[in-house]
Amino acid sequence: PVRTRFAPSPTGYLHLGGARTALFSWAYARHFGGTFVLRVEDTDLERSTPEAVEAIIEGMQWLGLAHDEGPFFQMQRMDRYREVIAQMLADGTVYYCYSSPEEVEAMREKMRAAGEKPRYDGTWRPESGKVLPPIPAGRTPVVRFKNPLDGEVSWDDVVKGTITIANREMDDLVIARPDGTPTYNFCVVVDDWDMQITHVIRGDDHVNNTPRQINILKALGATLPLYGHVPMILGADGEKLSKRHGAVSVMDYPAQGFLPEAMLNYLARLGWSHGNEELFSIEQFCEWFDLDHLSKSPAQFNPEKLASVNNHYIKLADNERLAGLVRPLMEKDGVDFAEVTEGSTPLPDLAKVIGLLKERAHTTHEIATAAMLFYRSPSPDAALLDQHFTAVAATIKPALIDFAERCKTVEWTKAALAPMIKEVLVAHTLKMPHIAMPLRLMLTGQLQTPAIDLVLELFGREVVLERLQKYL
Ligand code: GLU
Repeated sequence: PVRTRFAPSPTGYLHLGGARTALFSWAYARHFGGTFVLRVEDTDLERSTPEAVEAIIEGMQWLGLAHDEGPFFQMQRMDRYREVIAQMLADGTVYYCYSSPEEVEAMREKMRAAGEKPRYDGTWRPESGKVLPPIPAGRTPVVRFKNPLDGEVSWDDVVKGTITIANREMDDLVIARPDGTPTYNFCVVVDDWDMQITHVIRGDDHVNNTPRQINILKALGATLPLYGHVPMILGADGEKLSKRHGAVSVMDYPAQGFLPEAMLNYLARLGWSHGNEELFSIEQFCEWFDLDHLSKSPAQFNPEKLASVNNHYIKLADNERLAGLVRPLMEKDGVDFAEVTEGSTPLPDLAKVIGLLKERAHTTHEIATAAMLFYRSPSPDAALLDQHFTAVAATIKPALIDFAERCKTVEWTKAALAPMIKEVLVAHTLKMPHIAMPLRLMLTGQLQTPAIDLVLELFGREVVLERLQKYL
C-alpha cells in the first residue's frame, strides 16, 4: 500500500513550495487509495513555534489536504530515536566519537589545506584489529554513523533519474549530539522507517540528504522508499520565490480573495502536467496524478495565471458561497447588511448581485468593490450630473418622467424592462446613453455599472422610484 508523508519544519507559515509538495504527496496517496501522513519536524527548538504548527495545519485545512495519520511530532518521539541509537550501538553500525569540536575542525582544516574534501578522519571509528585511543577524561561523546568506506549509493529518483554518490564522498554523520539528542537526518530516517513511508516526495533542496539517509536505512535493514525530488518554484524573474514576488504564504491567498480550488488547480500545474490540461477539479487531479510527469526543471510562479484560474473558479462557484466570502469584505467597507435588509426599501440580494458581477472578477475582493455600488447611497459628482442631466434637462427630463411612470406598472424583469426603455427612447427620439447615463448616476452615483436593465432589475422598483424622485 502507498504511504506518503508531508514533513514540514514548523519555522514559519505554509509557503507555496511546501503546499505543493504536500499536494503531490496527498494526491499520490489518494490516487492509490493509500495513506497520507503528516509529520511535524520540530526538533529545531530555536526556530520551531506552536504558531507555525497552527499556521501549517490551517493552510492544509484551507486547501483540503487532510492527513490520514498524525500529526506526529518528532519532539514526542525522542525515546524512540534513543532506542534506535542504542540498538545501532549494539549492532556496531554507529560508534561513540570523543573527538572535540576543536579537533574535528583541525582535521578538516588539514584536509582543506591538502586540497581534499573535509571530513571526519575516523579517529574513533572502530575497525577490526584497530586500537582506539584512550577516552579523554570528562568528555561526552557524539554518536557517529559508520558510513561505508567504499562502493557507492545510488537511487532512481522518480523526478531526476538515477543519482549515484561515491561513499567516500560522505562523512561519518553525527547522529546524536553530546547531550544525546538525535540530529535531523537521523530523525527523518527513523520516522520514514517506522511510518513505513513508500514514497518520499519533497523539495530538491533535500537531494544531498538522500544518500546519507539511504545508507542509514540500509544499516537498519529497512526497505527503501522511492524518492522524488521536486524542483523549487521560482518567481517570474527566475529568482527563488520570495516576498517580493507577492504573497508566499498560502494563507495570504484567502485573505486576498482566492478560492482554495483555484489554488489547488494552480499548484497542481506548477511542475506537473497532463497533456495540455490546465483547468481540472481536485478529483480529476487525483485520478491523473502520477510521478512520471513531474517536471525536471523549476516551475515559475505566475500571479496573472493564478488570477485567471481564480476567475474560472469564481464563475463556477455557488453565489451564496461567494456571498459568504464577499459580505465581510463589504462590511469592512462600511456596508451594514442588517440595515440593508431591514430598511424601508430593501437593497438587492447579495448573491444575485454577485451572479451579475462575478464573470469578470479575479478575486472576491474585486466582486466586493464592484458590488458596493448597490449598497452605498449614491452621491453623484455634481459636474457629471450637470453634464448628463441638468444641462440637458429640457430634453432628458421629460423622457425620465415618462420612464418613471412606466416603471410603476411594468413587469419588473430584465426581459420586460429592456423593451420598455426602448419605447421611451423612441417616443422621445433619444439614444440609449441619453437616459442610461443619468439613470446610472442617479441610481448608483457612478457611470461605470453593469447594463442598465440589469441594474434596474436588481435594485427593484421601489428603490429605483425612490432614487429618481429626487431629480424629477
Ligand atoms: N522538514 C523538511 C522541510 O521542511 C522536509 C524533510 C523531508 O521531507 O524529508 O524542508
